[in-house]
Amino acid sequence: MDYAEYLKSPVWKYRARCVRERWGFRCALCNATEPTEVHHRTYDRLGHEGEYDCLPLCAECHTRHHATMERVRREWLKRTGNLQFLPFDAILPSDVDSN
Ligand SMILES: [Zn+2]
Ligand SMILES: [Zn+2]
Repeated sequence: MDYAEYLKSPVWKYRARCVRERWGFRCALCNATEPTEVHHRTYDRLGHEGEYDCLPLCAECHTRHHATMERVRREWLKRTGNLQFLPFDAILPSDVDSN
């Protein structure tokens, strides 16, 4: 199953709901009451995410986060020539997903 399929699967839907529930159905960043999206902080455990691997975000925060990360990543790549030691969560939707 590829990532796009996984995001449509009942397993992920259930897991994503649990993440939103854990946060009281609020965006983990701005506290908006419509955390419609669930962000992966890491893809290390894709398919069997742990409790801290995902965060519920509203569409606005999610889009902004990925746009920022995209910029950081490009900047880093320009300076160092590789992504190997990028110090934080730098996998991007362009690499993997929209979530
Ligand atoms: Zn938000
Ligand atoms: Zn995300």
